[in-house]
Amino acid sequence: MLYSRHLSAPIMTTISANLQAVCARIDAAARRFGRDPAAVTLLAVSKTWPASSVEAAAAAGQRCFGENYVQEGVAKTQALAALGLEWHFIGPLQSNKTRPVAESFAWVHSIDRLKIAQRLSEQRPEHLPPLQVCLQVNVSGEASKSGVAPDEVAALAAAVIGLPRLQLRGLMAIPEPIEDFAAQRRAFASLRETFEQLQRGGMPLDTLSMGMSHDLEAAIAEGATMVRVGTAIFGERQKP
Ligand SMILES: *Cc1c(COP(=O)(O)O)cnc(C)c1O
Repeated sequence: MLYSRHLSAPIMTTISANLQAVCARIDAAARRFGRDPAAVTLLAVSKTWPASSVEAAAAAGQRCFGENYVQEGVAKTQALAALGLEWHFIGPLQSNKTRPVAESFAWVHSIDRLKIAQRLSEQRPEHLPPLQVCLQVNVSGEASKSGVAPDEVAALAAAVIGLPRLQLRGLMAIPEPIEDFAAQRRAFASLRETFEQLQRGGMPLDTLSMGMSHDLEAAIAEGATMVRVGTAIFGERQKP
C-alpha cells in the first residue's frame, strides 16, 4: 500500500465524502447546462494543507492537484512523488521563482506576462514533457491586479505559442467573489468569449480553467473544462 499509516480515518472519510459531494455538484451542473460531466476536470486545490491531506484525496481517487505557493508546492510534489499525481501551479509567479516551478509542475495556470513564460520555457528540463500553460486573464477590471487585460490576451498568446518548451492550452480567471449567479455567469462568459476569439483566430486551445468552491456551477454553465476547488474538498483554510 502506497499510503502511509499516519492518515487518520476521520480525515480520510471527510475528504473522501467532500470529494464525492464536489463530483456530484459537477455532474449536476453539467447535466443542467447540457454538458458532458466527463469534459470537466476537477483540480483539487491543496494550498496550505499538509501532504497528508493530499494523500487522503489521492486515496479517494483524486489525481490532479493545484498549489499556489512555490516552496510549499514543490515540497509536496517531492514528498508525494511516488503517487504519480499531476501538479498544477495556479498562484502568482515572480520571475525569480520560475525555475522550481518549471522543474516540478506539469501545468501553470497563472501566466500573465511574456517574461514569465520565456523563463519557464528556458528552464523546463529536456527530460520532461512541455509545460502545459494557461494565460490568466483579468476579467474583473480595477477590482483585480493579477491577470492580463482582455484586450492584451491575443498578443500574449501569439508570443507564448511560439515558445519551444511550453504548450499553450487555454485561459484561466479568478473573478471577484460575488453571490449572484447571473453576475457570476457574466464574468465567466467574458472569459469564454475571449477564449473563443482565440480559437477562431486558429489557436488550438482546449482548456478553460474557471470556477472555485463557491461558483463552479456558473463556470460550468459557461464552458469551464477545469474547475479549481479547495475549500469544498479540504475545508476552510486558516487565515494567515
Ligand atoms: C485558492 C484558490 C482556488 C480554490 O479556492 P476555493 O474557494 O478554496 O475553492 C482556486 N483557484 C485559485 C487560483 C486559488 O488561489
